[in-house]
Amino acid sequence: MILFKRANDITAYIRQQQASGLRIGMVPTMGALHQGHLSLLEASKKNTNLTVCSIFVNPTQFNDPGDFQKYPVTLEKDIYALEKISVDILFLPDVADIYPRGVTGLEHYDLGYLDHILEGQYRPGHFQGVCQVMNRLLTIVQPDQLYMGQKDYQQCMVVKKLLEIMRSTIVLHTCATLREPDGLAMSSRNMRLSEPERKKAPAIYQSLLFLKKNLRQGNLSELVAQAGSLLKENDFSVDYVAIANAATLEPLLQWDGQEKLVALIAAYQRDVRLIDNMLMNS
Ligand code: AMP
Repeated sequence: MILFKRANDITAYIRQQQASGLRIGMVPTMGALHQGHLSLLEASKKNTNLTVCSIFVNPTQFNDPGDFQKYPVTLEKDIYALEKISVDILFLPDVADIYPRGVTGLEHYDLGYLDHILEGQYRPGHFQGVCQVMNRLLTIVQPDQLYMGQKDYQQCMVVKKLLEIMRSTIVLHTCATLREPDGLAMSSRNMRLSEPERKKAPAIYQSLLFLKKNLRQGNLSELVAQAGSLLKENDFSVDYVAIANAATLEPLLQWDGQEKLVALIAAYQRDVRLIDNMLMNS
């Protein structure tokens, strides 16, 4: 695996490889890698000639400075895991390389309502930060294919919108969520859960299954409230439980029995914020 730390160096290398006909796949991450990340890298390796993994804990997407400070960093383990599955390139930039003019006064992206609902509502500015870092990473690497996780459903929609704004030809692949045997979606944040918290954490998955199983045409408020109760019984403090149109992410309180739906949850065990989602009827 080749490790690049400087933007200019990786750009020059990738352009050279593309000129010789190789197709580049990219998986942007914030590190503390788990099997979910590795599954995206495997998908990229299968479909492209050269796979780039980036590790960068992006300060501009953390609305909560405490969350940024506590974000797990396990670089040595990450490098070992990447070597083990033969990832070609690791891009490990520092803040000055991603934001040469500093982290304030950065570009603002018009994401419409996606910026203000669900994650956008509870993490103001989060998706602006995601777009800022993604624009920069994609401009530096210019991959042909981009692999991201359905686990961050709204983020995938935001990045799709960003690619349109950038008039980019990069193809976005949204890959399935990898879960622990008890259903908990794999996440770098899971390692911050204490043992009792970890035992309660699968209640998110169970609530999503409950929604899927009990979904009926008509008003959805009672069903959503019941899923919220299930979370609270497991000591979750809930940001949102929502059912939304799977294509547009517009939250719904009434279902016509036809529309494709996705259920989304964000909730805290203590100060560890977990998110998950599930397609309801596709
Ligand atoms: P992160 O390091 O959390 O920014 O995640 C990097 C990429 O991995 C994002 O595209 C995530 O959606 C994806 N990802 C995170 N968790 C999972 C998971 N459990 N299964 C599949 N992909 C995931």
